[in-house]
Amino acid sequence: MGNLRLLKTNKEVKDFLLNKENIPILESKLEKFVLEYKLSQERTEENKVMLSKKNLPEIFADVKKQVDEFLGIDCPESPKFYFGLQNKGQSIRDKLLNGVFLSCGLIQISSVFLYENMSEVPPQNLFFGVGFVSMYLLNKIFNNKSDLLAFYSYSKKEIFTKEQEILDSKLTLVHEYTHFLQHIKLGKKLGRIKHSFCEEGHANGLANKLAKIFSENENKDYLSKVYSEEQHNFLKTYSWICNKLNIRKKFESNVELSKPNKYDLGTAYFYINEKLHGDGIYRSFLEESPDENDFYMDFLRGYFHNFK
Ligand SMILES: [Zn+2]
Repeated sequence: MGNLRLLKTNKEVKDFLLNKENIPILESKLEKFVLEYKLSQERTEENKVMLSKKNLPEIFADVKKQVDEFLGIDCPESPKFYFGLQNKGQSIRDKLLNGVFLSCGLIQISSVFLYENMSEVPPQNLFFGVGFVSMYLLNKIFNNKSDLLAFYSYSKKEIFTKEQEILDSKLTLVHEYTHFLQHIKLGKKLGRIKHSFCEEGHANGLANKLAKIFSENENKDYLSKVYSEEQHNFLKTYSWICNKLNIRKKFESNVELSKPNKYDLGTAYFYINEKLHGDGIYRSFLEESPDENDFYMDFLRGYFHNFK
């Protein structure tokens, strides 16, 4: 791998992607989607088995083993994992902090009523009142997990997963377990919002690699599942690059495409690097050392940011 450095900030990932040399790599991938895969494939009944509290330990152990094997690492440490998403993944510190934010905010705001005239209220009372309540609300919004399939809690090294078909859950478990590996290998310095494209791209890229292995050894539905999702995501990034660079598109979408998000851009970034440097990038990424520590961002990350 030499001095290949994959760990980049979100801005650097965007700069990397906005290069016309990436276009043929993405086009050959999109071509492959069209030619080789039937995307509307119906899932067979036997593949509709659901994940449960009972089978989760066995399925997680299998996922961990196969990811470790693919990466060629021996990872004796394992995250804790839980079935269900409700009210989980927040540390006591976060819960306490949130309680403090709400109470301070309400005390500040209610102090307004101590004054007879609004003009006598010290502006800082309102400023801090609204500020504290906003911190509380932001945390509620950022930590809302109800629409997720699974997530990794950075504060407690725990994976939470929803009830879903095993076919889906194995791939989401690969993704969340990758976040755990990033956490223990790259340390606390990763997990900052400014590296989120890399984190999600690495986790999605590994899930796509493992989907190929699962489809060869277990069940071909794994591949059709990732391909149907990937095609749309790659098309979004491809269109975004072509539009930005003013290049005529070879592939057009018949639906309107939204702007690519951190998952789309990160996945394309890892895919292009995989084509350029081989599968070894998934491991070498975990061996890179993150840049300078940033205490305030780390603190905010721990508070607001749980991986999805
Ligand atoms: Zn993620």
